[in-house]
Amino acid sequence: MRSDSSLIFFPQQLSQGANNFDVEANTEDLNLGEYTFSAPLSCSIKIERTADRIDVRLDIETAVEFSCSRCGEPMTQEIRASANMTLFPESKKTGSCEEDATDLRFYTEEINLRYMVRDTFLLVLPLAPSCRKDCKGLCPSCGTNLNVSSCDCDKQSIPSPFEELRRMVDG
Ligand SMILES: [Zn+2]
Ligand SMILES: [Zn+2]
Repeated sequence: MRSDSSLIFFPQQLSQGANNFDVEANTEDLNLGEYTFSAPLSCSIKIERTADRIDVRLDIETAVEFSCSRCGEPMTQEIRASANMTLFPESKKTGSCEEDATDLRFYTEEINLRYMVRDTFLLVLPLAPSCRKDCKGLCPSCGTNLNVSSCDCDKQSIPSPFEELRRMVDG
């Protein structure tokens, strides 16, 4: 367990085989200050080092405050996500497989996982978070939160925009 929130690792300091780290990422450092976290951004990082490559396995876990996209009530969304990345030493860059080189990632004296953590987090954020699966949302006519109470709007006919238009044309 590292006490700091650094997501930078030094290959020379990694032992051959599995290296495990639990890091509490600093969300401000990751430019995630716009989100309200209700739990630390916990990163479980497994770095497998062999002679010719480094495999990184990342598992993140946290919770973020949102407003429900349907009813607008505050809600907490638990976030869990994983990602994998393989890195090769930069000395391999000018190897025989130059055609494939664009897809490969390389490391030099340090491995910076800040972008991996940030991207992994952003990728799983819900586009339209909802407080529960069956959130009924707000009545489009009167704004009543239909999870909490009901209204009479659906019993009346909602005027169609064409009806409005006809009334305007007819004067
Ligand atoms: Zn809701
Ligand atoms: Zn209503």
